[in-house]
Amino acid sequence: MSDPNNVKSNASTPLLSLVVPCFNEEEVILQTHGRLVTLAKDLEQGWQTRSPNPHLEIIYVDDGSRDRTLSRLHGFCSDPATSHVVRVVSFSRNFGHQAAIAAGLLHSQGHWVATIDADLQDPPELILKMLDLATQQGADVVHGRRQSREGETIFKKATAFLFYRLLNILSRGRALNDVGDFRLMSRRVVRALNDLPERSLYVRGLLPEIGFPQAILPYERPPRAAGETKYTLSKMMALAFEGITAVSVAPLKFGLALGLFTAIACVLYLVSIMIRLVLDPTFAVRGWPSLMAVILFLGAVQLLSVGILGEYIGQIHREVKHRPRFFVDVQKSRL
Ligand code: UDP
Ligand code: MG
Repeated sequence: MSDPNNVKSNASTPLLSLVVPCFNEEEVILQTHGRLVTLAKDLEQGWQTRSPNPHLEIIYVDDGSRDRTLSRLHGFCSDPATSHVVRVVSFSRNFGHQAAIAAGLLHSQGHWVATIDADLQDPPELILKMLDLATQQGADVVHGRRQSREGETIFKKATAFLFYRLLNILSRGRALNDVGDFRLMSRRVVRALNDLPERSLYVRGLLPEIGFPQAILPYERPPRAAGETKYTLSKMMALAFEGITAVSVAPLKFGLALGLFTAIACVLYLVSIMIRLVLDPTFAVRGWPSLMAVILFLGAVQLLSVGILGEYIGQIHREVKHRPRFFVDVQKSRL
């Protein structure tokens, strides 16, 4: 099969790279590895007539795990049965899911690259379907779309539902609903992502920006195979703000619109107060509650607008420092 971007590849370039971010996944990683090794065999069988080198490479990115995840990953590298297909990128500390994906993309070599969670919530077998879909439809990206989410709290489902819809509106329909980070990408898309200058890489917000034909594969999302979610509330909020600031400046305009609206409302209210004062001079004494209401409301609007500004200034601040997206511990990596 030819490379979608005529990348300089040789006979040993794998057909497919898997990028697997891992943070404290010791309970599940053995099981996950087993499923990915099975996928490697299925790929080889299914694609031997279609590709000269239908091999898989698995890139585990250890995002500063504090449990035995890294030593298990090292175990896969020293296992003669799988050592040739496994590589490990080890971060110097926890940089977050998106940074781990960025590192995996940078180290991947395959003609195609799939990103997949380590907890088996994204069924690895579906990647073969994604590959089929991509080749049939000539797509460069196949997004996995979550039809259902089992084993997750109502809070998580509700916030995720609202977040995707909000992002969709803010990006004027370009950010896809219910699409996470389970996807297949061609080499030219991965290269475009790797070449993006920004430090904060919010992959799902940036793909519509990059363009190229994209397809969707709906799937049912099972519960985690083991362990518990590594996305704490604060990490979820950080991802949400990163996502919103990555795809849209609409909240800044919202702050301005809100300010204008309240200013007009306040002027009208002041005019009505003056008219009532003329009609009834004792009216002012009774005005304390409404006065408080206006002051509090205006204070809230100002704080909200300053908060929105703060989010964007924070992003600019992070970008101008031009720091690397992550730091790799080369000694602990197996590249
Ligand atoms: N993850 C990571 N760094 C983090 C948090 C999570 O690399 O700081 C990985 C995690 O190991 C998993 C994926 O990101 O492979 C998704 O995390 P998780 O399953 O906990 O999130 P959820 O599915 O609950 O949203
Ligand atoms: Mg998960």
